[in-house]
Amino acid sequence: MGNFDVVIVGAGTGGSYASYLLAKAGFNVALIEMKRRDHVFKTTGDAIGIHHIERMVIKPPSYVFTIRYEGAEIYSPDLSVKYVVLGKGFGLDMAKWAQWLISEAESAGAHIFDGYKVQGPIIENGKVSGVKVLRPDGTVEEFRAKVVIDASGAAAVIRSRLPRGWWVSEPLLPEDVSNAYREIVEVDYEVERPEYIRIYLNADIAPGGYWWLFPKGRNVINIGLGVWGKLTEERGLNPRHNYDKYLANSQYVRGRRVIHAGGGIVPTRRPLPSLVANGFLAVGDAAVTVNPVHGGGIGPALLSAELASKAVVDAFEKGDYSERGLWRYNIDYLRAYGIKQAMLDVFRLMLQTLSNEQLNRGLRARILTEDEVLEISEKGSLQLSLMDKLKIALRLARVPDVASKLRLAFKYMNEVRSLYEAYPTSPEGLSSWYGMLVSVYREYTSKLGISLRWLSSV
Ligand SMILES: Cc1cc2nc3c(=O)[nH]c(=O)nc-3n(C[C@H](O)[C@H](O)[C@H](O)COP(=O)(O)OP(=O)(O)OC[C@H]3O[C@@H](n4cnc5c(N)ncnc54)[C@H](O)[C@@H]3O)c2cc1C
Repeated sequence: MGNFDVVIVGAGTGGSYASYLLAKAGFNVALIEMKRRDHVFKTTGDAIGIHHIERMVIKPPSYVFTIRYEGAEIYSPDLSVKYVVLGKGFGLDMAKWAQWLISEAESAGAHIFDGYKVQGPIIENGKVSGVKVLRPDGTVEEFRAKVVIDASGAAAVIRSRLPRGWWVSEPLLPEDVSNAYREIVEVDYEVERPEYIRIYLNADIAPGGYWWLFPKGRNVINIGLGVWGKLTEERGLNPRHNYDKYLANSQYVRGRRVIHAGGGIVPTRRPLPSLVANGFLAVGDAAVTVNPVHGGGIGPALLSAELASKAVVDAFEKGDYSERGLWRYNIDYLRAYGIKQAMLDVFRLMLQTLSNEQLNRGLRARILTEDEVLEISEKGSLQLSLMDKLKIALRLARVPDVASKLRLAFKYMNEVRSLYEAYPTSPEGLSSWYGMLVSVYREYTSKLGISLRWLSSV
């Protein structure tokens, strides 16, 4: 049996970074990872915004990056309209990124247990007091700690096994995920403008999601697509099937030599009602911190690891590892990012109702300018002058059906913002706050004409 200050489950981006930060702060940290450390690798689109990297307290070496990006090109389904949204970023080599982060955590003093599979939480007296672990030799060991952090990705191996009455254990439903598949492919042509990632809106190829082509170099691309989990559940739509049908033989992958193929689940939803419980916090995908519109979750995994670590340091100073003692993580997270995440969730539900024809007309009418798209994606909202409002009103008048959906989304994005700004400062207020959240979503989704399983279960 091992005894630690902090046990962290999963050595992906969130877990390794939290381990680094907490070990550096002087805590006795166990980082437990089921894969061998040199096999830790996450299948992704490999793209990250520069601001996430700049916020890190350690500077990544240049070898973890494959390419620099200047922005994104967003295409309408019929490809007749292209938005160019500026914003710097990087392409990551996910294997090198993972190995680098793990070695930083280790150098800071974290104990790495790789090849150890966490089976579930140990709960005693209403608090998480450790985890049960299957060791490489097949025996089961208990790792105990004052605080356990779940950083195990979308599987959330601890969070999802906590009692259903705990706020943090809210299940991740199919309606709140994107099922994604992608290949890294060498092609036989030179990719034009490799410094721009491409996002293609197309409700046939990527229903309720988008398909992407992210250059990794002159003739290597990361190409894939995401399908809304609700459609996978209801209609059996499958991203791999759509990839084979629409992209595998397309001009985009001419001369295709597959370097790596794989997929995964991307949580694309509002924040959890709470990210903490007694002796417990969740970060990254385990805490559903992904951007609901574009599915970027590497940056939010870093951010949530940083904010969770601060709350842990605070809890140790106070000697209070309870839900209340860790609560500031909820507040810090919402302020830094969660409010925007909630607003973007409202926006994504609206986007998921648009047909190709509506997307084509909406983008052609340029209802939103490129700057406005950038502002929404950065802030989750738009600050408009009277003149801007007039201009938008004129543009909206050309596409009334799309405009009314957009107006509806903006209205509820504002409502959701106000609600999250009033998030309770301690656990007591959460029940009534949650009731208000449910009513806002009920009203919004009924006007939008979609049903969510979440709302019929609460
Ligand atoms: C196809 C696809 C494309 C994506 N594209 C992008 C993109 O371009 N940009 C972007 O920012 N985001 C992208 N995302 C999302 C992004 O990959 C994730 O949000 C991010 O990697 C989450 O990091 P994490 O540390 O929370 O989890 P993970 O990276 O998933 O790490 C979790 C770790 O926990 C370990 N683990 C799991 N279970 C156990 C267990 N029982 N015991 C011990 N260890 C365990 C796993 O082995 C893993 O190492 C994409 C996701 C997918 C699926």
